[in-house]
Amino acid sequence: MSDILYVFTRLNLLSVIDILLVALIFYGLFRLMQGTQAVQLLRGVIIVVLLTILITSVLKLAAFSWLIRNSLSALLVAIPVIFQPELRRALERVGRAGFLTNRQESTSDLVIEEVCQACHRLAERRHGALIVLERETGLQEYIDTGTRLESKVSAELLLTIFFPNTALHDGAVIIREDEIVAAACVLPLAGDMMPDRQLGLRHRAAVGATEETDAISIVVSEETGIISIAHNGRMIRRLDVKRLGKILQAFYRPRLQRVLPRWLDWIGRLTSRV
Ligand code: ATP
Ligand code: MG
Repeated sequence: MSDILYVFTRLNLLSVIDILLVALIFYGLFRLMQGTQAVQLLRGVIIVVLLTILITSVLKLAAFSWLIRNSLSALLVAIPVIFQPELRRALERVGRAGFLTNRQESTSDLVIEEVCQACHRLAERRHGALIVLERETGLQEYIDTGTRLESKVSAELLLTIFFPNTALHDGAVIIREDEIVAAACVLPLAGDMMPDRQLGLRHRAAVGATEETDAISIVVSEETGIISIAHNGRMIRRLDVKRLGKILQAFYRPRLQRVLPRWLDWIGRLTSRV
């Protein structure tokens, strides 16, 4: 008790600012990493470090402790190398000065409108297409496999890109906010968990891109003209354009609007029990 009082007596305005500053930096870092693949890696690293601290403090294992001590410093060098794409994305976001706001909110209805219009016409013409919408997880590693475009999203441009036998029609288009960042990108293929074994590579790539990221993929089938959407490693098939638009709008609704109905529902259920 006296320890706590001692801490409070030593607390002054400067130390409060100091603590707040550090807390803000950690908050910013976690916000930047939220939803990225880096979080899983970080969780793994924290578990390993905690386990080794526990083991080495309980048991006196000299050789093991030596190995851990030395490999931890190697890990410090390895982290920037492993997280290089994530760090680059994070710095890009800081540069855009919008990293504390929710990026999903900035994707306008206009992009959804253009994408839906393009899908409608591509399906009519039976031109195959694969469009990936980036959300919180950076897709830089996929972007790097394609050709950079950095042009505003428009239905006409999407139709031109996916026109058969042109240079960019093969592979995926990646959209970030209101820009087509790249075309002809190669995506990872989904594992064997595909719902329909008949589906070919385009559909497997669409699902594959969403297995380890929070991205949304849209596929127009060249063979059937069917429009499908994939998220979280799952695919919804046979969508008409109206339904596609509704689903995309639901994904891009501001966070509060998505969370609020769930809270209200929860409060409603709680009060109905009383
Ligand atoms: P569709 O119904 O349009 O025929 P599908 O699911 O049957 O689609 P395929 O016929 O195998 O798929 O489609 C091949 C096309 O899918 C390729 O021409 C290429 O554009 C695209 N594709 C294949 N693999 C990948 C990949 N790893 N990443 C991105 N695009 C890919
Ligand atoms: Mg096919």
